[in-house]
Amino acid sequence: MTPATDASLHLLYGGTFDPVHLGHLAVARAALATTGAAHLDFVPAADPPHRGPPGAAFADRLDLLRAALASEPPPAVGTWAIDPREGARQGPSYTVDTLREWRAEHGEARPLGFVLGADAFLGLTGWHEWRALFDLAHLLVARRPGCALEGLPPALREALDGRWATEPADFHTAPAGRVAVLDLPLQPESATAVREAVAGRRPPFGLPAGVAAVIAARGLYRDLAPG
Ligand code: ATP
Repeated sequence: MTPATDASLHLLYGGTFDPVHLGHLAVARAALATTGAAHLDFVPAADPPHRGPPGAAFADRLDLLRAALASEPPPAVGTWAIDPREGARQGPSYTVDTLREWRAEHGEARPLGFVLGADAFLGLTGWHEWRALFDLAHLLVARRPGCALEGLPPALREALDGRWATEPADFHTAPAGRVAVLDLPLQPESATAVREAVAGRRPPFGLPAGVAAVIAARGLYRDLAPG
């Protein structure tokens, strides 16, 4: 475990990862490279609050993440791993609870960034205790095809006033509270498209080789309604 005295920027990347795809990995690499963070943890949601039940069980999604990290090259900047903590909690996997847990372990002063895609960011005001997120972490937003960041809901736009980071160093000099958009090409992958392809017996697009192998070996997503 990272010692509480470590002052380096840490990133958490939450999601359902149902399954993890190459778009997620590209976002994680860009988050590490853009901020110069020391480490990023993928944090799979056990019970994602804003959607129906995942197509694969938490244990399978965790194994898919492990397979992805084992079959793909490591990031050029920093390190990455998986933080399975949401699997140990009962009830909906609220990000605010995860960030509070992390803060209790690592202290109030350590810089922490939370990575999310534009679709998730546009819906942020629907998240449990969403305003508290800014006190707990910086937010790093990855653009996504079809998600215009120009049309932010008014309450979110207001909450972001004065928070936009001007340079990556901003994330190292405060523990939380800044927001930045990640600079990376649009990533076309989507977990929904992967699940639909597998259920429809079509080749899925954008999977790490190790993830495709685990999906095939376990027969994951085959019995979902095809899209
Ligand atoms: P689904 O299609 O099931 O909604 P997804 O592909 O969006 O899945 P999630 O596990 O929900 O995958 O994504 C985790 C986080 O990564 C979310 O914040 C999401 O916005 C972001 N994300 C996922 N895919 C991309 C992508 N291609 N580009 C940028 N961000 C992405």
